Amino acid sequence: MEVLGKVADLRDFLAKMRAQGKRIGFVPTMGFLHVGHLALMRDARSDGADCVLASIFVNPLQFGPREDYRDYPRDLDRDKELCRQAGVDALFVPPVEEMYPQGFATYVEVAGITEVLCGRSRPGHFKGVATVVAKLFNIVRPDYAYFGLKDAQQVAVIQRMAQDLNFPVEVRVHPTVREKDGLAVSSRNVYLSPEERKAAPVIYRTLERAGEAVERGERDAGRLIKLLEEGIRAERSARLDYAEVVSWPDLSIITKKIGPGRVLLALAAYFGKARLIDNILVDVEVE
Ligand code: AMP
Repeated sequence: MEVLGKVADLRDFLAKMRAQGKRIGFVPTMGFLHVGHLALMRDARSDGADCVLASIFVNPLQFGPREDYRDYPRDLDRDKELCRQAGVDALFVPPVEEMYPQGFATYVEVAGITEVLCGRSRPGHFKGVATVVAKLFNIVRPDYAYFGLKDAQQVAVIQRMAQDLNFPVEVRVHPTVREKDGLAVSSRNVYLSPEERKAAPVIYRTLERAGEAVERGERDAGRLIKLLEEGIRAERSARLDYAEVVSWPDLSIITKKIGPGRVLLALAAYFGKARLIDNILVDVEVE
């Protein structure tokens, strides 16, 4: 496996791959890899990308001033080994100065869909995400790029951006990989104390309960949001950030009746210093 830190070296490597007629599958990450990331790499392999490229870059631009950029977990040696085992052909690990050299001044903003959910709680977050992913797409020019539905709003933002800016990439999405007790696997789960770890599956349990209510015929967005809020508030170690019900993939806030179509039920909550997010997509049939 090649490990590359410079854009120019990565471009040389990819040019060689393309000259051999290989299709590039790309898995961008912030590292501290776990089974969720590995599932995306496996998808890339099984989709027939003949060259799988992963990147590890903790992108300072997508963290707010009081967020966990400095504390974000990092373990490059372990990550390299996991990538090697996953059959990754090349790993791109650029230093911050390589991505944002002195004088960097160009940003990508996706309007509208970034104003709800995490976009509202984390101002500037998706500007950072869209900017870095646009840069990576331009550097890598992947045939396929893989993202996880755990970050559903990120998926919607990247798909919108790829379409709006005509990136010739096919965005592929993997369902959320979960621990046995339902907790969405996340690099940030290491922040949880043993007690918080025990309590954290309340997020998915609460989403599932709301999903079941939809299955039983609940269509009132307000009542669903109340169900979500109450589920989190019942757990003493949790602090609710948001509970929202939006249409998918355009992320319009639903105030009255949900559906018909796909609806995203989304939660964010703090457990100590860990801010965890999760969501489920439900299909609401025409009545
Ligand atoms: P991150 O390193 O957290 O930025 O994540 C890199 C990619 O892995 C993103 O596309 C995430 O949505 C995806 N990902 C992270 N956790 C999971 C998970 N539990 N299941 C599926 N995909 C995930």
